[in-house]
Amino acid sequence: QAPLHITNEPIKSFASGSQDVINLQKSLAKYQSKVLEVPLIINGERIYQGRSVRDQVNPSNHSQVLCKFAQATKEDVDNSIKAAMSAKAKWGKMSLDERAAIFLKAADLISTKYRYDFLATTMLGQGKNVYQAEIDSIGELADFFRFNVKYAFEMYKQQPVESSPGCWNRTEYRPLEGFVYAVSPFNFTAIAGNLFGAPALLGNTVLWKPSATAILSNYLLMEIMIEAGLPAGVVNFIPGNPVQVTECILNDENFAGLHFTGSTKVFKDLCKEIYSKDHFREYPRIVGETGGKNFHLVHESASLEHTVLSTLRGAFEYQGQKCSATSRLYIPERISTEFIELLKQNLETIKTENCSDNIRGFMGPVIHEQSFKKVTSAIEEAKNDPELEIVAGGSYDSSKGFFIEPTVVKTTNPNHKFLSQEFFGPLLTYYVYPTNEFEKVCELIDKTSAYGLTGSIFAQDRDAIIYASEKLKYSAGNFYINDKSTGAVVGQQSFGGSRQSGTCDKAGSSSLLGRFVSVRSIKENF
Ligand code: GLU
Repeated sequence: QAPLHITNEPIKSFASGSQDVINLQKSLAKYQSKVLEVPLIINGERIYQGRSVRDQVNPSNHSQVLCKFAQATKEDVDNSIKAAMSAKAKWGKMSLDERAAIFLKAADLISTKYRYDFLATTMLGQGKNVYQAEIDSIGELADFFRFNVKYAFEMYKQQPVESSPGCWNRTEYRPLEGFVYAVSPFNFTAIAGNLFGAPALLGNTVLWKPSATAILSNYLLMEIMIEAGLPAGVVNFIPGNPVQVTECILNDENFAGLHFTGSTKVFKDLCKEIYSKDHFREYPRIVGETGGKNFHLVHESASLEHTVLSTLRGAFEYQGQKCSATSRLYIPERISTEFIELLKQNLETIKTENCSDNIRGFMGPVIHEQSFKKVTSAIEEAKNDPELEIVAGGSYDSSKGFFIEPTVVKTTNPNHKFLSQEFFGPLLTYYVYPTNEFEKVCELIDKTSAYGLTGSIFAQDRDAIIYASEKLKYSAGNFYINDKSTGAVVGQQSFGGSRQSGTCDKAGSSSLLGRFVSVRSIKENF
């Protein structure tokens, strides 16, 4: 029976002194009191012994090891494929009601019994504050599971509208014939859940390779799925060397789909690999959400304070490590001085800190050394480039954790690479445009949008809003009017972009689910 009414999981405020905070602190202490050994989970079996092991460290304090996790060998990947292929015989035939019940139960376990553990593992491992962890690992994750159930029932209900006399037509939503490979990023626990969850809900079986920097929370999610009743082999949890795991998977003729979120380069390499092979039994479905260079376009009619605060949140919440983070800003000359002054004043109140110690701290660390180096080299470049000027931030320190101050760079060159290159960190670049050249700046943004993920127009003038919406049609798959470029809510704004940002299949939508079914049309004559 389809659930009739699905609503967004309420987000808790974690007011100081509340029972929620006490519970969370207990969970944070628990996960710091011992180094967990995280196994692979293949066909329901937990495998740790004899595998090479890697550490996941706390990015706020990189000398603290949070867990040691097993790396899948070639044989493990082969066994996962076997497990997935044999599990699908039963799983694919189960009714949607039965499969849905498991995901609905998992969503409830996440929002109740495991809420604090889940927040703690996401905060410690991925460097989030309590609010960022709550909107991701509780809100968005539970929403993905529940709304996918709703969308799946709606899809299955879509049946032919006509039948000729003497015949009955129907549509069957079969799972893909082979297995799906889910590759998840570090930055959202929720995304990992959707990457394996959406295909699995539809009767597919999955090999899930989580990010090496999100193991603690992702492993907990895997255990919750098992507790919720997910049969052995339906989702196989295989952290490992990405190149080796992928090679093994793509060598198998039963590979039927890729569900990916991560960098544009890795996605492109994967696509090339897949298209270069000729042995698959079916054309693999390829669904990817990748990078972005997301814009805030400010019109002179914009409400100043709201736009400044939205920009600060869009650019620097979770240290700018959302694919949707605001990383370029266009301000009209007439209000630019006031705008930047207000932005700077607000930034002065922010310090980077360990957000599992101060759970409501605004900014934590970036995820790892590689990311730290990428962003800080850009900052150094900005210091030496005559077309760039650092107007706020610019310092960093990785002695304990990977901390980078929120940094704002001004450029005088509208085509500067800082306005088109993704850094995936707390670095915002802005360009001041002549106030009467709004139309020209729309053109400029579109022309420099190799990516097409998210973007926002801030304006009170309706004509400006309409003009920008039209002109920037393909510059953003998620287009916001008077709101920041981050923070899509499942069931309200499905998420994903086109151009170099992905296949625009939209996480949190029925169109995404459509990519993981193989539709059979059946005609029966009487
Ligand atoms: N859905 C998230 C948002 O709207 C971003 C997801 C991502 O970083 O991939 O902010």
